[in-house]
Parts: sequence; structure tokens; C-alpha cells
Amino acid sequence: MTSTSVTDLVAGLADGSVEVIDLTQPLSETTPVLVLPDPFANTPHLSRKTLSKFDDNGPAWAWDVLELGEHTGTHLDAPIHWITGKDGEDVASIPPGRLVGPAVVIDKTAEVAADPGYLLTPDDLAAYEAEHGAIAPGSWILFRTGWGSRASAEAAFLNAGPEGPVTPGPDVAAARWLAEHPNVVGFGVETVGIDAGAAGGFDPGFPVHNFLLGAGRYGLTQLANLEALPAAGALIVVAPLKLVDGTGSPSRVLAFVPR
Ligand code: MN
Repeated sequence: MTSTSVTDLVAGLADGSVEVIDLTQPLSETTPVLVLPDPFANTPHLSRKTLSKFDDNGPAWAWDVLELGEHTGTHLDAPIHWITGKDGEDVASIPPGRLVGPAVVIDKTAEVAADPGYLLTPDDLAAYEAEHGAIAPGSWILFRTGWGSRASAEAAFLNAGPEGPVTPGPDVAAARWLAEHPNVVGFGVETVGIDAGAAGGFDPGFPVHNFLLGAGRYGLTQLANLEALPAAGALIVVAPLKLVDGTGSPSRVLAFVPR
């Protein structure tokens, strides 16, 4: 990028021809979290304890202590989250340039409305490239499903049925496609995890975690406002905590969208 490009971006932000969209869900005590079946350990919801609130413990200041999982709310999955990526990057080691890139938005909202367990296929990904052009280097693939509209109601968001959670995600072949595409840096979803709800029963289990994190790429969950993005042409900024040895981190995720 030339200095002119940055100047143009700054001017676009000032005159409204570039809009900033917040792709982050609100983080609070009621933010939904993943639920694993027995015997696996589960992550806590966010909770907080007051250190002071304009009282004897701090007469002029208010501050809290948080407890939350690395994988709570809108968050990034680092390669070391999964056994296939355990020798890869922690959150703090991710090169910052990988956290900024083109946003590729694959819209399957209609399909997911008809079938909440809809599985994204390699044909869907190839169809995107046929319509919008080849995926550019450094891209984040964002799976738009409409699921974000459920994000304030945990039961509807997790959508657990008698057979387990019913939520959309890539099939095994699409997970492999994403992990093997040289220009894909990360894969983001509106749901609680980067794999489909049924993916524990796939072969291999949780194929997006398995292939994508194993290939040194990143996951991004619980995104909001994907419907405000064009299919191509937006720029995403992913901002996890620089957490040393972190397997993941709550993240603020923004997009620059030309208007
Ligand atoms: Mn995670």
C-alpha cells in the first residue's frame, strides 16, 4: 500500500465513503458459550467481581476483575487450540499482518433458514470464486448464515436437539479445501464454533479445527453483522488479546466497507 492509499482510506473514513462495521457480538454474563457433552470440561460464561466502585476500596474509580474462557464470545482460535496445530502459533505469535485482510463473504442465509444443519461444500466455495473472482492472498473467509440473529438467546443460538447441536458449518471436504487454499488465512462464522454442530461425528471429527488449525490458519467465531458486508471488497481487522501461550482470545473484529 502506498502512502496515497492510506491517505485515501483516512479520507474515506472522514467523508463516509468507507464505513466501519463492527463484526463483534456484545460480551456480557449472558453471552452464549459452547457446551460439550460429558465427560469433557466446559468453559465458563463471563463473570466479573468488583474491585471498587467509587467506594472505600477506590473512592474515585471503578474497576472489575473478569473471569472468562479464552473461547468466550466473539473469539479467535489459534493453531495451538487443536492437537493437529499444537506445535504452531499461540495467539501472541500471530504476525499482525495476518490479522488484517480481504473479507470473502459466502452467503448461505437462505439455505440455513431452510436447514439449520446446512453443510458448506467445496462446490459452494468454487461457485463463490466463479462469481466474484479468485480468493486474494491473506483472505478471511466469512460464512454468512443469519445465525447472528440468535446470538442474544443461548438456547436458540446453541440449538441443541436430541442428536446434539444443529448448526451450520463446512463439510469435511470444504474444511480440507479451506485449509489447503494457499490464500486463506482464516475462517469466520456466526455460530459458537468454526465446525458444524454435527461435526463431532464427522471423519475426522471437527474437520475445520483439525485441518485449518493444523495448517497454521485461524478460526473466528460468533461474528455479528455479516449481512452488512458485500460478498467481496471489504477489509477485515481481527484484534485478539496478545495473550502469551493463548489457545484463543476474545477479539474485537471490525470491517472497512466501501459505500
Ligand atoms: Mn474456539
